[in-house]
Amino acid sequence: MAALQTVIHIHPEAPRKPLAGAPCNGCGVCCLVEPCPLGVVLSRKRKGACEALRWSAERNLYQCGAVVAPDVLQRALPAGWGALNHLLAPVLRRLALRWIAAGQGCDSALEAVLPDSPTMPPMLPKDRQADSPTDTPP
Ligand code: SF4
Ligand code: SF4
Repeated sequence: MAALQTVIHIHPEAPRKPLAGAPCNGCGVCCLVEPCPLGVVLSRKRKGACEALRWSAERNLYQCGAVVAPDVLQRALPAGWGALNHLLAPVLRRLALRWIAAGQGCDSALEAVLPDSPTMPPMLPKDRQADSPTDTPP
């Protein structure tokens, strides 16, 4: 059976995805493909890039917004639940650290291939036109 493929828009400076089991380097591939269980709640969707994912220009890697960005939780809570923010934030941070494999090995078996790589199917000219001008990192 042919392997499933999907296209993600990733920051050009993002580190290359390591093999599963190697230390997580914040490449962001897993979170750009689909949200983890916490990301499903924060993003309110099951497919596509997690809304909580944040690019760190200082560190040149992706980080989980549930860990590093207080606004992520604020935006996910229903209006009027702001008072719960300080109670929920530490819990969500702990959950996120588990799912993003922080300080652990990469638990994603995905294979990331750059466009124009020999292992990628060739792109049609109309695909290039549609893709290039709007390619912006999340
Ligand atoms: S766990 Fe996700 S962010 Fe970390 S190295 Fe693996 S694919 Fe990249
Ligand atoms: S680890 Fe964080 S950024 Fe990644 S999918 Fe989960 S909630 Fe989203």
